[in-house]
Amino acid sequence: MSFERVTPEQRREQYLRLAEKARERALESPATQNVFLRIAESWEIMARSAVEIDEFHSGADYSTTFRRTRSWLRQNAGRCCCDNCLGFLISAHDSSVRHAVRRLAREEGYYRYSAVCDYCGDERTVTRASDMAL
Ligand SMILES: [Zn+2]
Repeated sequence: MSFERVTPEQRREQYLRLAEKARERALESPATQNVFLRIAESWEIMARSAVEIDEFHSGADYSTTFRRTRSWLRQNAGRCCCDNCLGFLISAHDSSVRHAVRRLAREEGYYRYSAVCDYCGDERTVTRASDMAL
């Protein structure tokens, strides 16, 4: 199982490389210089927004993962599950799972503590929903 994805930093560098290439081409061909300069500027704008775009996407991902984490824990109330197993069981990113369980731990009926995970058997920080969890 892998969740390989391009980091915003890698995407930013990719855009900057494309911008650089367009600038080189602008220098090479005076006839189409303006076109390539405009292309370069567009890539530079993309590069600047790469991080913002990623934050927007992961924000959307966070709320979906939060709902799935909550309903999964409720369906399996009484069992404790570590972040790794949770991520595997609901097919979500580790970072959004951690975000979800930290938020849930502040809600009534959800507990987070160090214990042996019911699913992998390792001693880790686990999360558990009680029967009272909403
Ligand atoms: Zn586990």
